[in-house]
Amino acid sequence: MSDYPSRVYIAEMGARDGLQNEPLVGTQAKISLINALSQSGLTHIEAGAFVSPKRVPQMADSARVFQHIERKTGVTYSALTPNIQGYNDAMAVNAEQVSIFTSASEGFCQSNIHCSISESLERFIPVMEQAKLDGIKVRGYLSCVIDCPYDGATSPQQVAHIAKKLFDLGCYEISLGDTIGTGTPIRIGRMLDAVLNVIPRHQVAVHFHNTWGQALVNVHQALTMGISTVDSSVAGLGGCPYAPGASGNVATEDVLYLCQGLGIETGVDLEVVTKAGWDICREINKAPQSNVSLALSAQTKKSR
Ligand SMILES: [Zn+2]
Repeated sequence: MSDYPSRVYIAEMGARDGLQNEPLVGTQAKISLINALSQSGLTHIEAGAFVSPKRVPQMADSARVFQHIERKTGVTYSALTPNIQGYNDAMAVNAEQVSIFTSASEGFCQSNIHCSISESLERFIPVMEQAKLDGIKVRGYLSCVIDCPYDGATSPQQVAHIAKKLFDLGCYEISLGDTIGTGTPIRIGRMLDAVLNVIPRHQVAVHFHNTWGQALVNVHQALTMGISTVDSSVAGLGGCPYAPGASGNVATEDVLYLCQGLGIETGVDLEVVTKAGWDICREINKAPQSNVSLALSAQTKKSR
């Protein structure tokens, strides 16, 4: 039986996880996107990443983005910071929260972060210590919680084991990423069951990519298990480096519409988010990867 939460919190990934997997976008367009999203009722917007500009040129202007967005009271603007240098850069432009990331699979960790999982966790210790001193909350991302492009299936026990390590480091929330989007509801359910044995439900978030078209049903699966924080990207921005042409995160518009239909409060205005999505999609010359967005667009044209 289902155990839906009464309220769902969206962690908006479009400006970071989304745009880091799209062709380069101008700084002003990013700022406009974040400003527009800030007006929608969203309370958490990941606005950039302080990572190597050589490896991720799409995020090279994150400092300027943080400096020029109009911050709205009640919205947390977070940054991805893989190490203490990134953390310091994020603090220099007043990021309000940071995120760290590792993988539940060794193969992905080696290819993506170039170290073992336990080495990656060790690297985060200085970030965690400094964040504690600064009173900054840290979110932990865990990649490849279902499958890894190198190692194959990830066991739910392994996911729970690494998630608990991130949690014990001091992360206030663990975001479980189906990075390559191969999950289906039964496997998502088993993975969440294992994690919920070791981490309180309200500190678990889900982060599903839509590569195989399963992200929304997987979000629904998580909702039936009482998960109340969902990562999503406006217009489904983003992609998957392991599946060229594939869509990115589950679209925020689709999650909002699903929650509306289930009677779950989000506090987010679907129309405002959808319009922000149309604007950024025009900028990158791409159709929104969201059925809800496309349907609303058709409706708007018809009523004109
Ligand atoms: Zn992602």
